[in-house]
Amino acid sequence: MIELGPAETPGLVCAHHHLYSALARGMPAQPRVPTTFREILEQVWWRLDTALDLEMIEWSAKLGALEALESGTTAIVDHHESPNSIEGSLSVIADACAEVGVRVVCAYGVTDRHGPDGARRGLEENRRFLGAGGAGLVGIHAAFTCGDGTLEAAAALAGESGVGVHIHVCEGPEDAGAPARLARHATDRWLLAHGVHLPTDHGLAGTIVHNPYSNLNNAVGYANPARFSNPVALGTDGIGAHMIETFRLAYALGRSVDVTASPETAWGWLETGWDLVPAARGDRVTWSYEPMTPWHVAFTPGIRPLRVEVGGDVVWADGRPTRVDAVEVRAKAREQAARLHARL
Ligand SMILES: [Zn+2]
Repeated sequence: MIELGPAETPGLVCAHHHLYSALARGMPAQPRVPTTFREILEQVWWRLDTALDLEMIEWSAKLGALEALESGTTAIVDHHESPNSIEGSLSVIADACAEVGVRVVCAYGVTDRHGPDGARRGLEENRRFLGAGGAGLVGIHAAFTCGDGTLEAAAALAGESGVGVHIHVCEGPEDAGAPARLARHATDRWLLAHGVHLPTDHGLAGTIVHNPYSNLNNAVGYANPARFSNPVALGTDGIGAHMIETFRLAYALGRSVDVTASPETAWGWLETGWDLVPAARGDRVTWSYEPMTPWHVAFTPGIRPLRVEVGGDVVWADGRPTRVDAVEVRAKAREQAARLHARL
């Protein structure tokens, strides 16, 4: 265990991310304003992911990894879908993050939305990546877009591979049937993203990942994760990787329903990230503020990292990444975003 000074923490972990979302910013407006969570999926995310190719995926991952370092986040648990560029996509993400110097745990979100062949190819991408030694989980989009056979096959692959499943659970009301269908598969290694509409006594094993900013943005409701007996971690659901900001929002939302809530609870959720990506605990971030303790950080906006060390190497210092050119990454990502938006 390394000794940490008052302005230091280990590397932070974003426990639920979609790196490709970095290219969604500035996308053309939908033909019709989506009015429900289901319509947001159909009109924004499911249009966007079908248009992705490997080059777009590469630069979105580099931009996402760069923004993670800028926020003192050294590990990302990513959930990826690109139905027209499935094969090799997880390796592209892993390589892009490695180039920037950020740890990533990849998963391809299997779904039956694109027929049995789409589900099979998604499953194979998880198998290929894990079989080649990649750091990953088996991805499932969500129970409500998968038949029982697909859920069964993905859970079995995770079991054989000795990893968990990374899945959206009860993000919106349309996924209310998930607990009954997943209960017999889920293990402590599973990552259950959202849990907004998950009953308190849901019977699922696994870590619940709370994504406060995304849940507010999609108007799906408040997960109130303090009610669960499962471990709880924090994620962004693709809206950057700023985990200090995410902690502060998680604390304030908890407080909004319970005036006795302590920031130590939400800080504990941040710390759960190190159970998911243990190597990040050995990374070191030096911050612009001290002491980096829950009651201080909860009420201090604008804290930023001055220096970030991953696996003993300095990957961020003097306001910039050390391994890549931030100006180039942003310019290339903008070009790829323009290509993507033109396809929509
Ligand atoms: Zn998500």
